[in-house]
Amino acid sequence: MSKIYRKKIIAGNWKMNKTATEAKTLAAEVLNEVKKFDQADIVLIPPFTALGVVAEAISGVPNVFLGAQNVHQAASGAYTGEISVAMLRDVYCRYVVIGHSERRQYFAETDALINEKVKTALAGSLRVILCVGETLKEREGGDAVWKKVLTKQVAGGLAGIPEKDFADIIVAYEPVWAIGTGKTATPAQAQEAHAFIRSLIEKNITAEVARKIRIQYGGSVKADNASEILHQPDIDGALVGGASLDARSFAAIVLSAAQPGAAS
Ligand code: PEP
Repeated sequence: MSKIYRKKIIAGNWKMNKTATEAKTLAAEVLNEVKKFDQADIVLIPPFTALGVVAEAISGVPNVFLGAQNVHQAASGAYTGEISVAMLRDVYCRYVVIGHSERRQYFAETDALINEKVKTALAGSLRVILCVGETLKEREGGDAVWKKVLTKQVAGGLAGIPEKDFADIIVAYEPVWAIGTGKTATPAQAQEAHAFIRSLIEKNITAEVARKIRIQYGGSVKADNASEILHQPDIDGALVGGASLDARSFAAIVLSAAQPGAAS
């Protein structure tokens, strides 16, 4: 595959942390550090209750976008406790995370459900961050096992998506064994998995889509390991959990995405 420029995308998934009041402060602190940095798209992903205040905080700042951690697959209706695409769009959400391993593990989300959510989100003009990744047992099962898991998750999550919609899809490779554990995949392991996912997209969709799609790495990304991970050829950004809760750590990760030699 010939080389193509893919703008890095660094997203901070705050998970079930930060009240709206705390989120407002964190968003302001993050902006203070990164608002002049235009070499990456930056996505802040607070809990639902803080979307409004974070939207206000980032309003008018180019390259900083709002994301949600989940969405319901139906457009509206009697689904107590759920949130729709239209509700997210109304508070200026641009991105939504779908298929995070915590949703797969604790909320029994299957590839079929995840695929429905992806389709609903795209139909409502949200950009999708589709998470895939193998467990520790699957990684330890050897190459054939983890590759089979990724093959199933990528094919299942993206089934039936027309080629034109891929501009709005980001895949996040998040090995479950590296999420919140402090264990990061080595840059070589992450690169190998990213190249494999890109090859799956080439096989399942087209070579053009595979060249253009952004694939983020997630799993204990920190200020001190971000640079090496972010400069692997098939790694186009990071999905950051724990380290995104601290503005300086998150900003350091964002700034690690700078292209060598480019002015920031
Ligand atoms: C995540 O939850 O997507 C994640 C990558 O978390 P952490 O950075 O804490 O491992």
